[in-house]
Amino acid sequence: MTHAIHETVVNGYFDNNATTPLFPAARKALMESLDTHWHNPSSLYPAAGLAKRRLEESRERLAELLGIENAERIVFTSGATESNNLVVRHLAATRPEHRTLLSAVEHPSLLDPASRNLGNRLSLVPVTETGVLDLDALQEQFREKKVGLVSVMAANNETGVLQPWLETGELAREHGAWFHSDATQWIGKLDAGQLASCDWLSGSAHKFGGPKGIGFLVLPPGLHRLEGAQSGGPQEHGFRAGTENYPAVAAMIAALEYAIQRADGRDKIASDRDAFETDVLQRLPGCRICGAASPRLWNTSMLVLPEHKNLKWLTRLAEKGFFLSTGSACSSGKGNPSHVMQAMGLDFKQMGRVLRISAGWDTARSDWQALAGAFGEVHQLLQSKTRSNTISLSDINPLH
Ligand code: PMP
Repeated sequence: MTHAIHETVVNGYFDNNATTPLFPAARKALMESLDTHWHNPSSLYPAAGLAKRRLEESRERLAELLGIENAERIVFTSGATESNNLVVRHLAATRPEHRTLLSAVEHPSLLDPASRNLGNRLSLVPVTETGVLDLDALQEQFREKKVGLVSVMAANNETGVLQPWLETGELAREHGAWFHSDATQWIGKLDAGQLASCDWLSGSAHKFGGPKGIGFLVLPPGLHRLEGAQSGGPQEHGFRAGTENYPAVAAMIAALEYAIQRADGRDKIASDRDAFETDVLQRLPGCRICGAASPRLWNTSMLVLPEHKNLKWLTRLAEKGFFLSTGSACSSGKGNPSHVMQAMGLDFKQMGRVLRISAGWDTARSDWQALAGAFGEVHQLLQSKTRSNTISLSDINPLH
């Protein structure tokens, strides 16, 4: 993913909110456990028992990192999509009379199953123009009784905007509702210990330097059965059937520990990102930064470009070795306008001009500077193409 520009090596990977490269510590843990603890943790001989013990130690360690007292509240899943789906399915099965409140900017892995399973018992709570949940609108929703669940993500995957999940959680509890937070973009990037107060919590390893296909769901205290989970075996304390993937779990824990060790570097990357934004705003008059007025993740910048479709920018930047996204990786492949941008009040044209930039733990100031330079070059290129494609009447009829 690195390439040389004028003799300097540039790390042009700016799509870390979609997925991250594996941290070396995670690769080491993965390889070691694939070699030594590959036995089925449910088998009954000593080597399998050891794999089982390591799995439970990992659960304890994750609980410690998340500030959760009882590790049995943690269920390992295939990632945050599964975790979010499980929350909705459990709710639909156990609180059929209750209403669910979701922020309008949740990830599709929550919005989609909720609209399929909950019908008119689902209400979306708007966000402000700066992408933050509208707490007054949330308060209004509690005027009608019987709210079973409120779900607000910790940090938005498209804009990086941090949500008032702590206040939301308190409101939910005051009204006797469960509080779920999809903390997929927060965990590993910000202090996870703060999230311990959530009843339900979703996370995914590949967003913080771990492997894909492994994540977790934290269950409310005292839950004995998880409805809607795959069945057919007693694994995961009876909550989720299927042979446990201990090597992936070990890699996830190693990745999270490493991401936490790297916490010192966050402020520097945030200030490099801010300098990049200032630079780009000068190079591209009329460009806007989505959610810039709100607290944001240290790695994310969502641009609304002044002209030309985002796919044109994306392709030209990729030719120069810079890899970005037109929004959430999950919806961008379909070319649909982003529901997050829509919720923030962008018009249709603006929605077609957004580009998401998401740095990683190793992104250096020089990478940001090279990216800003590439934006300037691509802008000139696209402008010159537009000029040469513009045929004036005098080109067609010399009499004009
Ligand atoms: N929630 C959020 C906020 C995300 O960013 C993502 C990944 N794009 C998911 C859920 C889904 O995670 P996974 O890839 O682990 O299924």
